[in-house]
Amino acid sequence: MLFANYINGKWVSGDTFENRNPANTTEVVGLFVKGRASDIEAAAEAAAAAFPAWSKLPAPARGAYLFKVADILDRKFDAVAEEMTREEGKTLPEAKGEVRRSINIFRYFAGEGARLNGFLVPSERDRVHMFAIRKPVGVVGLVTPWNFPSAIPAWKLAPALICGNTAVVKPASAAPLSAWRLVEACHEAGIPKGVVNFVAGSGGTLGQALVDARPLKGVSFTGSCEVGQWLHEQASKRRLRIQLEMGGKNPTIVLADCDLNLAVENTVNAAFFSTGQKCTATSRAIVEKPVYDRFIDAMVERTKKLKVGNGLEPGIDIGPAVDQGQLDTDLRYIEIGRKECGPPRIGGHRLTGGAFGRGYFVEPTIFADVTPDMTLAREEVFGPVLAVIRARDFDDAMRIANDVPLGLSASVQTTNVSRVFDFVYGMEAGLLTINLPSAGVEYQLPFGGTKESSFGPKEQGPAALDFYSDYKTVYLKY
Ligand code: NAP
Repeated sequence: MLFANYINGKWVSGDTFENRNPANTTEVVGLFVKGRASDIEAAAEAAAAAFPAWSKLPAPARGAYLFKVADILDRKFDAVAEEMTREEGKTLPEAKGEVRRSINIFRYFAGEGARLNGFLVPSERDRVHMFAIRKPVGVVGLVTPWNFPSAIPAWKLAPALICGNTAVVKPASAAPLSAWRLVEACHEAGIPKGVVNFVAGSGGTLGQALVDARPLKGVSFTGSCEVGQWLHEQASKRRLRIQLEMGGKNPTIVLADCDLNLAVENTVNAAFFSTGQKCTATSRAIVEKPVYDRFIDAMVERTKKLKVGNGLEPGIDIGPAVDQGQLDTDLRYIEIGRKECGPPRIGGHRLTGGAFGRGYFVEPTIFADVTPDMTLAREEVFGPVLAVIRARDFDDAMRIANDVPLGLSASVQTTNVSRVFDFVYGMEAGLLTINLPSAGVEYQLPFGGTKESSFGPKEQGPAALDFYSDYKTVYLKY
């Protein structure tokens, strides 16, 4: 089936590229139109033309459209989730969780339409009334990755629209269908033409066109540090508003006083589910000496029970890598791990033979005795590869955990409340969990990292409104 681009309320065709199933590469999930720079320009112009009317619409009326989008997605829930598994590889329960989250995100921001508050404060002067109101930014470009192909476009598009902005969505080429379904729902909900536009195609070509598009006022990007850095440089030349959410090298600190079974469950979940392809995935377990050996043994035993396979099949825990490029990256880091610290305790191979031969499957892999200076302890893999590092004590664990340039998420496993607070105040990461996996966040709180993981205002929760709106300050003498 052909999935066209969507510009100014029309489906626009052209040359195509294939979206293939990473669990069975003989299956083409869909053909997508390879957008050109001129499509981005047309989409940005359409968004600019739609902006005055959309931004003047009362915010609760914009919210009514967003509720409709959520209802439409809800009606297609099972089909959309199944398509996500086929295009991205995550298991069907994971895909269902993600589609449910997109629906919830649309409902949450639809509700914000009735709460889009500014604020009013007393003046020092007599009979002066002063207040600040929110105004939208204008046309925004939304550039999204493949790993949460529905939720990330949803958590950018819904707050953008409720604040009164118009948008150009550029999805990841490896998994554009889930974002396409969101845009289709916007179309079916009757959102006026030009308010939402969708252009698939190569990031290199379209990214340049996006930052060059005259009407563009802001870009929200989620993806790799390299592309984020490039976009930042381009955007700052034009003083575009910019929001960047990028990579992570997320630690789970396991302390000697933890509930070990829980710590193992949480670490396996965070390191391996979704094939380790979550920006908040744990890729370093930093373990206090007294429980180090027991933790590794229990991790190996638990990991042996994980079932890798096609995520559409019942009972599968881990799907494939998203594409050949990500598989190659996983295998390259596994080789680096072998050279730096010897054979892995478990895993370490591509799975081949039978049905595995048609997909990009890799074993969940654990390296032990990784030291903080090794590559596996410092660079993001974005695959099911866990580095276990020994720490002398809590302070040593915190020092190791903070000694990387990235700071997205972090977790501690402990029953000591003092350690919890030391972790909360001392950990250099934007998202913290305690006795939970480092991954698995909800949409009602701010989302984003610190250090080189992120730049600009946070996403999700009420904080999202601060990127997609600006304050206009009013002083009134009466
Ligand atoms: P990516 O290669 O940076 O791609 C992200 C998006 O940017 C895609 O739509 C891509 O298009 C596009 N792109 C590529 N080159 C571009 C350019 N020059 N200008 C503008 N856009 C360009 O990242 P990815 O491989 O999809 O995702 C994995 C990375 O995302 C990991 O590092 C992960 O940690 C990070 N991530 C972060 C978060 C977070 O919230 N912090 C969440 C999820 C993922 P094409 O697909 O066409 O190349």
